[in-house]
Amino acid sequence: MTRPPTPPGDFRTAGSTFHPPRYTRVTEAVRRGYDAYARRARAWTVGYQERGGRVHCGAGCVACCNMPIRVSLAEALVTAQALTDEEAARVEAHARRVIQNARTAPDDDVYVERHRREVGFCPLLDRSTGGCSRYDVRPTRCRDTFSALPARYCEAGAWENMNRRERDAYRREVARTPGTDGELHFIAPLEHLSEPIWASAAKAMRTEWGLEAWGDFWVLTTLARDPAFMASVERGDARGAWRAARAAGLAHPTVLELG
Ligand code: SF4
Ligand code: SF4
Repeated sequence: MTRPPTPPGDFRTAGSTFHPPRYTRVTEAVRRGYDAYARRARAWTVGYQERGGRVHCGAGCVACCNMPIRVSLAEALVTAQALTDEEAARVEAHARRVIQNARTAPDDDVYVERHRREVGFCPLLDRSTGGCSRYDVRPTRCRDTFSALPARYCEAGAWENMNRRERDAYRREVARTPGTDGELHFIAPLEHLSEPIWASAAKAMRTEWGLEAWGDFWVLTTLARDPAFMASVERGDARGAWRAARAAGLAHPTVLELG
């Protein structure tokens, strides 16, 4: 997902009553990962394009901003610390729709499909410009998702709406397009290059708190601003963190993993 940058909302943001305490070692691990990824991805993309590869992502391209996003709590803290209270309220409202979907979806396919169509677009998306309003603190998945085919293939229902002939044509197109994994039109090496961010986030959480927390982007970004949840995390108390998430109405195994 590539969006035009907006002014950085760094550690403390005007309009925020959230005062992040002592998570710098965790968030810095993520930020270093983001910087390293940007360098690696840029270098890889230059070579890819020199070999004739195409990246179809561009400014105002929003079709992927209604996909579910998985993050670590370390990443969610980076985003949470940059949000204004108004943005955080919109993220929380979105998280509540995510939880409602998690509670009622009968399987993963329905969960993803309903997320895209009913939970809808990320509240950090500026629909008037097609830009990410928090580009500087967007999570890994938003940084490493790039398409080797036109954006219409990224839209919700693109696959479901194809007939058999169109699906065969899609498969052939993907198979002959450099940079894909041969099955989907996303650029696989640019996804793999982000793996060190996941690894360093896991290590930083484990070192700092003795536990890891992973889950839905909007749910964890909301919980990252919840004092009771974070107090339990700081103590390495996974059960207490789960109870705090449940008290906040944001606990469900589909969108929150602690341990
Ligand atoms: S081409 Fe697809 S992956 Fe790239 S920005 Fe557009 S919708 Fe997102
Ligand atoms: S944070 Fe939201 S608006 Fe920004 S790129 Fe990710 S999904 Fe899109």
